[in-house]
Amino acid sequence: MIRLSDTENSPIDANITLFGMRIARTTMQNAVTTVLGWCETERGESCRYVVTPNTDHAVLFQGRDDFRDAYNSASLVLADGTPLVWASRILGRKLPERVAGSDFIPALFAATTSTLRVFLLGAAPGIADEAARRIERRWPRVQVVGTYAPPVGFDNHADEDRRTLSAVSAAQHDLLIVGLGAPRQELWVAKHCHELSAKAAICAGATIDFLAGYRRRSPLWMRRAGLEWLHRVCSQPRRLAGRYLRDAFVFPQLLWQEWRRSTM
Ligand code: UDP
Repeated sequence: MIRLSDTENSPIDANITLFGMRIARTTMQNAVTTVLGWCETERGESCRYVVTPNTDHAVLFQGRDDFRDAYNSASLVLADGTPLVWASRILGRKLPERVAGSDFIPALFAATTSTLRVFLLGAAPGIADEAARRIERRWPRVQVVGTYAPPVGFDNHADEDRRTLSAVSAAQHDLLIVGLGAPRQELWVAKHCHELSAKAAICAGATIDFLAGYRRRSPLWMRRAGLEWLHRVCSQPRRLAGRYLRDAFVFPQLLWQEWRRSTM
């Protein structure tokens, strides 16, 4: 949810509701200006965080209260998935464009005019360090002040969870990039947003992998054609085939139900 105080003096003026999720009606440029604005001012009463829904999130959102709560407390919800932008148009609630997390973060780095201190949380051991090297080489105003790769399942163990929070808190930073996969990253940030010292956090999926050159994004034509999911399934079929099969079945039903509701 964009809270009014979060968007005061920001160029974002409205949300739409899609499949129950509030999504900012914003362009990439305005979203970048908003989040850099947060990073350049005093932290509010908690760390503001950004979530980036795709079709899989829309499906998860229907069945999980904890995921819905994490979304509802987010300060900014950006349409990551092309099918969400298409759905917004079909339903007459037009989103101006896709603002994918993996494009948004490089755009943010490119746009900062002062030093931006960043912490990278997540990805396999060593990957975030490589991402840090590449980020600092490419965007000299960005300083990666720390990285941490928590062990798999850390969030189910209180000790590991605390250790992760301490590792993040030990480094002074403006922006926390969290690449733990959904819904883990959204749940973790929502749970700890009052303790995190960052001014803003972005739930970023595989962005750290992409920045490290460890995984490749789909070619531009596939992204434009809304086929990024196909590229992902082909590169990780064992992990993702079941998920995308479910989404391919459920998402059209969600769209149909929403369209019926909007015409009644
Ligand atoms: N990841 C992690 N810890 C975990 C699970 C996943 O750091 O316990 C990282 C993983 O290494 C990858 C990212 O989270 O960098 C997953 O990104 P992706 O967008 O593929 O996840 P999804 O949200 O699609 O499951």
